Parts: sequence; C-alpha cells; structure tokens
Amino acid sequence: MSSTATAQHLINGEFVGDAVLERRNPARPGEVAVVSASGTRADAETAIAAAAAAQREWAAVPAPGRGAVLLRAADLLRERAGKVAEDLVREEGKTMAEASGEVGRAIGVLQFFGSLGWASTGTTYDSALPRTTVSTQRRPLGVVGLITPWNFPIAIPAWKTAPALLAGNAVVLKPSDLTPMSASHLAAALLDAGLPAGVLNVVHGTGSTVGEVLTHDDRIAALSFTGSTRVGRQIGRVLNERGARSQLEMGGKNGVLVVDDADPRRAAQVVAAGGFGLTGQACTATSRVYVTPGIRAAFLEELAAIAATYAPGDGLEQGTSMGVVASDAQLERNVTAVRTAVGSGATLLHGRPESDGLYFEPVIAVDVDHASPLAADEIFGPIIAVMDVPDYESGLAAINDSAYGLTAGICTTSLSHATDFADRAHAGVVKVNRATAGLDLHVPFGGIKDSSSGTFREQGHTATHFYSWEKTVYVGSD
Ligand code: NAD
Repeated sequence: MSSTATAQHLINGEFVGDAVLERRNPARPGEVAVVSASGTRADAETAIAAAAAAQREWAAVPAPGRGAVLLRAADLLRERAGKVAEDLVREEGKTMAEASGEVGRAIGVLQFFGSLGWASTGTTYDSALPRTTVSTQRRPLGVVGLITPWNFPIAIPAWKTAPALLAGNAVVLKPSDLTPMSASHLAAALLDAGLPAGVLNVVHGTGSTVGEVLTHDDRIAALSFTGSTRVGRQIGRVLNERGARSQLEMGGKNGVLVVDDADPRRAAQVVAAGGFGLTGQACTATSRVYVTPGIRAAFLEELAAIAATYAPGDGLEQGTSMGVVASDAQLERNVTAVRTAVGSGATLLHGRPESDGLYFEPVIAVDVDHASPLAADEIFGPIIAVMDVPDYESGLAAINDSAYGLTAGICTTSLSHATDFADRAHAGVVKVNRATAGLDLHVPFGGIKDSSSGTFREQGHTATHFYSWEKTVYVGSD
C-alpha cells in the first residue's frame, strides 16, 4: 500500500511550511514517497533566530537533564522504528534490513550521548601555585548548523544532533532535500521527548538556499557538514573566512588489499559486503581492490559468485538483497563510470554499464587502469574496480596513492601484514579482515586528505569536543 509522508520544517517548536517538494520512491517511480517543505532564506533565518533565543536556557539545564531528553527520544524512536524504517526505504531506496539497522543506529547514538550526560567533561589539575586548583570545563558554542547527505538520512543527523545538544547548543539542521522524512522523524522524537521549542530546528530545502544561509550567517558559530568533497571544501572556505569552526566529513575512495596469504572466500565476503552493501552508496564503501597474483583467480571466482547473489530490488519487498540507486543523477554517475572504464580496456566480470530504471546490478571490473576515473574517483555505486599488484608493498603503495583517506582495508592471515598495514595505511579508519563500511558508534570516526577537514572526529565521546570549547579555571583559596 502506498502512503505519502509529509515533512515540514521544525521551527521554534512548531511543524510549519507548505509541503511542496515531491520526492518519488526510487524503487517505484509512480509513487510519491514524501512531500516536503522547501525552505526560503527567510525560513532559515527565522530558524537561526529561534535557536539563538532558546540556546542559553537549554545550556542552563544540567547535563544529566539534557541527556535525559536524548534518552527519552531514543525510547520514542524505538517505539516508532517500524514506521520510520519504512519511510526511510521509501525515500532513499535501501533495503528494509539496512533501514532498520540505520534506525537502530540512530537510537543507539541517542542512548550513547544521552548517557554521557552523567559523564565528567572536565579535568582537575594540581596547580604549580600554592593553595590553588586548576580545572577545565567544556562550554557550548551557541547555535550550530548541521548539513547532512541523503545516504544515511537518519543516522547522520542523529550522530551530529545528539552531541551538539548534549553539549548545550541549539541546532539548525538542514537534511538532504532527497531524504527529508527521516530527519523529521528524528526531530519529532526529540520534540516529543521534551526538548524545549527552538533548541532543535530543521529546515528542509536546497543547499543553495538553506545551506547557503547556514554557511554565511554569523550567528552560526560552527557548522558540521557531511557530503561531497566539492561542496564541503566550498563551505569550509567560507567558514574559515568568517572565523567559525567547521567539521567536514566528505567523500571516499576506499581500497582493500587482498594478499596471497588471505583466505579467498573470506576475502571475497569482506570485499562484497563493503562494496555491494547499501548499494555501494556509503562514504566508506569498498570501491577499489588490489590483488596479488597467487590469490587472484580464486578470489575473483568467489567474488563473482557472491555478486550473483545480489539482485537490485524494491527494499520494501521481503528478500531483496540490494536496494536501488537513490537518484537519476547517481545512476548516471554509475553508468558513465563503468562505460568509460570498459571503453579504456576494463573487462566486466559481473554487471553491465546499463540498468533497468534505478535497478543497477553490482559490477566487478577487472584490468582497470590505476589512474582511470573508476579507480581514482568516488563513484558512490555498487562497483568494485579490481587491479593487479605484484606484491604486498606495491599494494600498500597503491592503496595510499589516492586523493582520499577515509577507510582502507586488508585481507590477510599474516600478523605482520596486518600490523604493518595498520601502521602504514594512510586513512582515518583501517580495517583488517573486516568490510571497509560499517562502524561502531562509540569510537571516533573521520578521514584524512580529501575525505575530511581533519579537525574534530565524529562519534564516540570526543564528538562533543567539536560542539564545545574548553575553559581553564584557576581558583586560589586565599
Ligand atoms: P552533497 O555534497 O551533494 O550534499 C550534502 C548536503 O549539502 C546536502 O544537504 C545538500 O543539500 C547540501 N549542499 C549542497 N550544496 C550546498 C551549498 N552550496 N551550501 C550548503 N549546503 C549545500 O552530497 P550528497 O550527494 O548528499 O551525499 C553524498 C556524498 O556524501 C558522498 O560524497 C559521500 O562520500 C559523502 N558522505 C560522507 C560521509 C562521511 O562521513 N565522510 C558519510 C556519508 C556520505
């Protein structure tokens, strides 16, 4: 049964704005998944003003009280999880299992940061001065802006909003205009959990209107962005110019090195999970694989067999092993990249450079030139480029020869390869015998090079550091 959801802005505690923007279900082009409000510059400015007015009172709530709101929101989201996951599938196209996992992630994030309301945030030192103590305290920044992409439409808004609120800030969030509903569910859970009006505002709409205002408005003390490297760099320049703090988590081109001592079946499972899961639409997806000669044939045979088990389908249908591509623009990128690679000599071991609508089969391309766009650029599709390397050292060099540095992996049974790779791979996250995609919520996450501003890490308890500043206080007792 089709059901169109409605996503309005949340401004000053009220859901407002005419729902005028249609987002079709990518798996069912005839079905409107969501109609959403489309924010103007004035909407964004009103939201910032509401946040500025609400922030001090929120910061005055003791941290355990702020955390309690996040914990209650986690409970509400859990009660609503089925509906939230279904709406997520309708607007984004991933499978129900993936969407349920993502909603579970958002719940876990709220629980994690909610419970940190009880954790200490400062340190006490012995001063070098007599009868003096020194301590540090963390202070909120004020109003923070959050700009998020479409591929994790509830998890990313959650992992930015929760630490921002816990640290005592007020927030203006702009979700991707392709996936407005998931962020609206998050906002509704927080509002229903007792978050005061104005502390969290959500303004839907495009980057060139709402996003631009958040980037340029001096009332936004800090902006956390996740999305493409092109847009992130652009935003970062503006934030630097006006002396505001920015956190940019951007694209990836994540490589896995498969060496002779690996188990070919296990290696194929690791590579396929990283490359084809989430339809390859993850910043941490495996998209290039370097393989040494002794394992090449066995590994490729296993990988092709696994690829054949992934069939793109409607995420709402039971048994769908892979969701659809989220948009026509993304499909165009997938198809062009594969066509270009084939045109320059690559062979397709699985998949084809065309699709049935947004149903795009997983692709394994072999004999790919390391300098070609398929090997070097972020495509963001279920496409794995396989390249031959003579040995471990050249494989490691190829992994590191990338503009990006988000995740890097190795499949090996050798302790010395594992430890050496962990030491020398140039990426924010290194995975040994585990898929490049998939992260624990309680540990820091972020990239280097063109994948990140490299300033503050997201996730884990230190995520609150981006959203706060540290004050040092000396107290003398005489
Ligand atoms: P995108 O850069 O096109 O858009 C991201 C967000 O920025 C959207 O909300 C968009 O509306 C907004 N935006 C666009 N132009 C803007 C502007 N001029 N000013 C302000 N805001 C603007 O990215 P996308 O297509 O939504 O997402 C896919 C990208 O996100 C991929 O590159 C992927 O690797 C990256 N990503 C990174 C991570 C990470 O943690 N590193 C996680 C998920 C996705």
